[in-house]
Amino acid sequence: NELEEKVKQRTSELFEANKELTKALEKEREINELKSRIVLNVSHGFKTPLTSILSSAQLLQIYAEKEHPLKQKIGKHASKIEHSVRALNNLLTSVLFFGKADENKMEYKPKKVFMATFVKDLLDNVKAGIENDVTIKSEVVNLPKTVTTDPDLLYQILENLLSNAVKYSKDGKEVDFKLSMENNRLVATVSDKGIGIPKAEQGKLFDRFFRGGNVGIVEGTGLGLSIVKKCIEVLEGEISFESEAGKGTTFQVSVPVS
Ligand code: ADP
Repeated sequence: NELEEKVKQRTSELFEANKELTKALEKEREINELKSRIVLNVSHGFKTPLTSILSSAQLLQIYAEKEHPLKQKIGKHASKIEHSVRALNNLLTSVLFFGKADENKMEYKPKKVFMATFVKDLLDNVKAGIENDVTIKSEVVNLPKTVTTDPDLLYQILENLLSNAVKYSKDGKEVDFKLSMENNRLVATVSDKGIGIPKAEQGKLFDRFFRGGNVGIVEGTGLGLSIVKKCIEVLEGEISFESEAGKGTTFQVSVPVS
């Protein structure tokens, strides 16, 4: 019976080892799937701005050879090029952040941040990337001159929320942005009157690659909010939202600062 006992033990060991192996293989399969999805989403995201850069740059060259006063057209295409380069730059930043978040390498690097400059850069950048007829109304309340926080993480959070609010807004509408200081926390509210997020999908909002069923032709990678979530975690902040399909969405973020 000793033999029987040994066989039993060996079988159970083998069973356990097999379970571990299956788990490891499953994890590897998931990682590979994730990698291919990132490559696919990002390559796709690169295409539109690159095509646009190319055609605008070609047109500019043609205009430059002519003698007519084409100031307006040149201005239009130069601005198209700027939009596209910004889009590619944002995409690259997302991918870099995503890579760091995925490998749990996102670090908290606190710095003294001048709020007025920070807010101005943020809004200038987001406004320069607007491609629809949406305006941003901003309000800062009770902000100290400087705070200590990680400006890159904070920027990434607010830039994503603001550009989403613009992107998913209806033409002619306004996005409201409010930044205030409440009990040693920076509190930001981003509110839009856009397409909203259907109730049934709200639980998946911060998942990687999630894209709402109602986004239509609005382009995206589905990475932004998963990055926002990571940044919030690293900053030990909080994020919440309220949304109604067809009516609009409000995100609120609060981050402890010193
Ligand atoms: P992307 O915008 O690239 O698709 P995000 O991760 O930033 O990726 O957002 C995920 C999805 O959440 C979007 O595709 C959209 O369906 C939804 N979403 C995010 N912000 C808003 C918003 N302000 N209004 C409506 N839907 C939104």
